[in-house]
Amino acid sequence: MIGITSYGTYIPRLRLDRMAIFQSMGWFAPAIMMVAQGERSMCNWDEDSITMAVTAARDCLIGKDKSTVDALYLASTTLPFADRQNAGIVSTALNLRDEIITTDFTASQRVGTTAMVTALDAIKGGDRKNILVAASDRRETKSAYFYEMWYGDGAAAIMLGNTDVIAEYKGSYSLSYDFVDHYRGRLNKYDYVWEERWARDEGYSKIIPQAIQGVLDQAGLKIDQVDKLVYPCFFKAEHKKIAKKLGAKPEQVMDNLHEVCGETGCAHALVMLTDALEKAKPGQRLIVAGFGQGCNALLFEVTDNITKLAPRSGFTGAMNNKQSIDNYPKFMKFRDIIETEMGIRAEAPTQIAMTTLWRKRKMLLGLVGGKCRECGTQQFPKMDICVNPNCNAHHSQDDHEFADIPAKINSYTGDLLAVSIDPPHKYGMVQFEGGGRFMADFTDCELEDLQVGLPVQMVFRRRLEDKERGFSAYFWKATPVPGAAEILNRVKYDDQVAIITGAGGGLGRIYALELARRGAKIVVNDLGGSRDGSGGGSTSAADVVVNEIKELGGEAVANYDNVATVEGGENIVKSAIDTFGRVDIVINNAGILRDKSFTKMTPENWKAVLDVHLNGAYHVTRPAFTHMKAQGYGRIIMTTSAAGLYGNFGQTNYSAAKLALVGLMNTLKIEGAKYNIKINTVAPLAASRLTEDIMPPDLFAKMKPEFVAPMVLYLASDKCDESGAIFNAGMGYYNRAAFYTGPGIALGKGKEPPTPEDIKANWDAINEMEGAQEVSDANAAIVALISPPDPKPKKSAAADDASPEAASTLTPKDVFDKMPDQFKKDAAAGVDVVFQYVISGSNGGDWYVTVKDQTCDVQAGKADQATCTLKMKDSDFVDMVSGKLNPMQAFTSGKLAISGDVMKSQLIEKLFSMK
Ligand code: NAD
Repeated sequence: MIGITSYGTYIPRLRLDRMAIFQSMGWFAPAIMMVAQGERSMCNWDEDSITMAVTAARDCLIGKDKSTVDALYLASTTLPFADRQNAGIVSTALNLRDEIITTDFTASQRVGTTAMVTALDAIKGGDRKNILVAASDRRETKSAYFYEMWYGDGAAAIMLGNTDVIAEYKGSYSLSYDFVDHYRGRLNKYDYVWEERWARDEGYSKIIPQAIQGVLDQAGLKIDQVDKLVYPCFFKAEHKKIAKKLGAKPEQVMDNLHEVCGETGCAHALVMLTDALEKAKPGQRLIVAGFGQGCNALLFEVTDNITKLAPRSGFTGAMNNKQSIDNYPKFMKFRDIIETEMGIRAEAPTQIAMTTLWRKRKMLLGLVGGKCRECGTQQFPKMDICVNPNCNAHHSQDDHEFADIPAKINSYTGDLLAVSIDPPHKYGMVQFEGGGRFMADFTDCELEDLQVGLPVQMVFRRRLEDKERGFSAYFWKATPVPGAAEILNRVKYDDQVAIITGAGGGLGRIYALELARRGAKIVVNDLGGSRDGSGGGSTSAADVVVNEIKELGGEAVANYDNVATVEGGENIVKSAIDTFGRVDIVINNAGILRDKSFTKMTPENWKAVLDVHLNGAYHVTRPAFTHMKAQGYGRIIMTTSAAGLYGNFGQTNYSAAKLALVGLMNTLKIEGAKYNIKINTVAPLAASRLTEDIMPPDLFAKMKPEFVAPMVLYLASDKCDESGAIFNAGMGYYNRAAFYTGPGIALGKGKEPPTPEDIKANWDAINEMEGAQEVSDANAAIVALISPPDPKPKKSAAADDASPEAASTLTPKDVFDKMPDQFKKDAAAGVDVVFQYVISGSNGGDWYVTVKDQTCDVQAGKADQATCTLKMKDSDFVDMVSGKLNPMQAFTSGKLAISGDVMKSQLIEKLFSMK
């Protein structure tokens, strides 16, 4: 039995939305709107017929022994070389044997099927057993043309042979006419197309049915005995008409793929055939016909072997791996339809030395490196000495193919200065599994798609085009494995242990289930009990959730301790360590309510609520923090509430406890920072027994805890770098809540305490929130307070305040000249500092100020050893010393950079009266 033994498909990842062509060029050619549906495939700038053929052939060779291939036929009408065998490049890239026949089939749209018939004849003749046919086309058209819409780029490969046949060859029928619907002159880039109506009526509609009928008659079959008819025809109506003429039902006809990729030239019959084979069942009959100066029609019958074919990208994989674009100028640039300025760097010589290409052909075209016979070390490129320092054997390397070895990104960059048709030029270090690495270009991706550790695969691409000499040079590049980024970026918690307090119901239960689903091992803490925390604890709440997790296939342990006690907190953490050996996540979630208006708030109710919420978080977090510090990793979530953040009638105890948790977080974030412990706070809004009587019933129904959980899960993951933030979360809505501090005003010049009247007079300025900032910690807040921000306080009736002096003509040099006069000797007792100023700008320069033994010395230049260095622009510096720019704002906005002993810089305000 002979026939098809394997297949592979390649459609470039880029798909141009046809409406983008119309939107750009519809003003010129409105009629192209008629065929502007869907997308057409388009080559990346570094793809051509050869690279696409290699990729389709690699897909076809999956699960096959390359050494059994006896011939490679490459079919294309868009081959880069008119006299250098293109099939030879494909064969070298695939690392096929040298002792095979390679040849190009070209100059007609039906060469894909011609190559198949020729291959089958050779196999039938018995001289060759396995022949790989790869068909590939990247046709060019003028802009704003129907054919630009109809055409697409793509490739397919079909392996024909006599073992493991998946579709048995039952015969073929060929017609050869010199029918010229279009032609491309030897020196022309574009097709010359004759009248469409004539091509349709006299060509497609007559010749395709004639060839298909021919193969049916030859096999003694009727059209209804064939399951699928495969024949490209980009004229939609004609495609249907041909089936009708043959008496075939519409369901027998394979789609011409206009909407999803367009017609891929001489590869299209084979691309459509791979679609048919992927859907075919054993026993079905297929006819594939290729039109062009006649027609070839081939009949196949699918065998059981089709179910045993190794998994591959195939037609579906090729279709699904796509990036839709609507950038028509990009399409034109990639195809050299528009000429852009590439800069003088692009003029660097590109000539390729044929001697080097011949000597290093395996490395350059086949990505063949070396593997040491002595120690097994893989390396690229292959060298005379093994790179393994423990081996260093000489001449010990065997050829080793790297193209199919899984690899990951070790480092990457985007280079805007390097010459690139699709900037930035993306390249970096690629590490192969099992050893070996090299600096690779990245293709078929955006810079944002790249990340360290991302799995990549190697693809054969055009490295450069020497237009002057008409030479395309090829090499291998790396591209992200389809779908790998999604897997890599998945938030997961494999081998992590999470403690969730109060997880026997409500929000905590959902956190526990979701974390367990994503791999975390859970300590489900809940003492049971009623909403107000009264009543004896019950173990059932935690047990139920543990069972639910186990039913999901997860791991969990129940804990019934009371978070409100020191021992309770310690036991909860102990149960994590005893059961799972570590603790990575703590979600402080346990809670009760005892609402009463303030006068009725008994000490008992006050204390009970603070004990569970605030003290509970302290009791659990403290022992967990010790483990997290030791392991250098931790994620802690506090649970606050809108009542705490904003206030709520009747909840003084609850509000106080809930906002106290934010205070706890604010300091813990600082203490945890250097141990990679991130602490954040969530203010949930969800339906639970704590909210059932506060919410209107219809709203209550919409408030599933599942809408809060994603935020908590993210904050609990290693993907989260945030620390010290508060987030509201509920009903699918998430936002950040934060404390902002206004710019404020300094009164009394920092010398005299201002009067209450001054406060009253400056109330608006004190309340001003424009320019308000978040303050990172208490030290930063103190810096803000001791830096007088406003030179123009309003005078109270009683106050006698001097107006600030004009500063418009002041330069930094003036400021430093005046500095010794403004030195406050009395404030300098015991002070020993050197302030280095580095002022940029046209009036800038370096000055340093030495304060020692209650004296002040100002010098131009650099100090030998400065206590701290202040860097600023000249204008900002003048603004700051003349009071127009608040030093704190200057610091937080980056206008003032301070290095060295930052705290000592705050003495400047004390030591000098600058106004
Ligand atoms: P819930 O009553 O359903 O869950 C709280 C759980 O904590 C209960 O299972 C309870 O048994 C347990 N618990 C109480 N005291 C405990 C203790 N001392 N030790 C161990 N477990 C104890 O309530 P919920 O709505 O899921 O609330 C969870 C957290 O979210 C609480 O901290 C609550 O204050 C906060 N919160 C909830 C909402 C909301 O809209 N549901 C709004 C703001 C804040």
